[in-house]
Amino acid sequence: MRIVRYQNNENQIVYGWMLEDKIGEIQGNIFGEYRRREAKTPVKELKLLAPCEPSKIVCVGRNYVEHAKELGNEVPKVPLIFFKPPSSIISNGDEIILPVQSKQVEHEAELVIVIGKRAKNVTAENAKEYIFGYTIGNDVTARDLQKSDGQWTRAKGFDTFCSFGPWIDTDFDPSDSVVTCRVNGQMRQMASTRDMVFNVGTLIAYISSVMTLEPGDLIFTGTPAGVGELKNGDVVDVEIEGLGKLSNSVKA
Ligand code: ZN
Repeated sequence: MRIVRYQNNENQIVYGWMLEDKIGEIQGNIFGEYRRREAKTPVKELKLLAPCEPSKIVCVGRNYVEHAKELGNEVPKVPLIFFKPPSSIISNGDEIILPVQSKQVEHEAELVIVIGKRAKNVTAENAKEYIFGYTIGNDVTARDLQKSDGQWTRAKGFDTFCSFGPWIDTDFDPSDSVVTCRVNGQMRQMASTRDMVFNVGTLIAYISSVMTLEPGDLIFTGTPAGVGELKNGDVVDVEIEGLGKLSNSVKA
């Protein structure tokens, strides 16, 4: 099932579910008990919001060998993790704003895990029970500041630097799907999720041994090779086979 978030006719922000190109409202808690109303509103009549509200956005660095190499880095021995702040979230169709502090803002196409159940010290074997679903992400990065700062908080944390959506798919199989990134229609990144250094189960086990993950928290699973610059006026599309497409324009 595909889960979306949007503003309904009464101006309330609600969750919904998709049946082909129609949306029905969900009443209750999407991570617990809920009821689905009939899907009858055409998706094109709604502005979809980022499909959940994470308390934490945990990201994994250098999780594809070819990407680690292209930036001159070693592949880490254990997952390399960092945060993006919830204030950086935008949704499908929103603008990525280039900050004046950076001269090199880049796209990072990524598969994103959405946590469904409080998770602490989960094993890789049991990780699946804690996954709500998957979505598509763009881990926008000020590459120059990432290099000059050492710490990544500024480079990864600007407003509009965390795009994800347009929906969460609760049935997606992450084992072998093609992740692509196109800028103005030109292919920049393409790899399969099977090329990840640390798989989904290993990542959840590792991260939940550090911090308690809550329902709605996100894990960005790392980006393939081919990261590159975004300029004013660009349109960046991240697509994951079987999951959908996330599209954003870029503005100075
Ligand atoms: Zn990333």
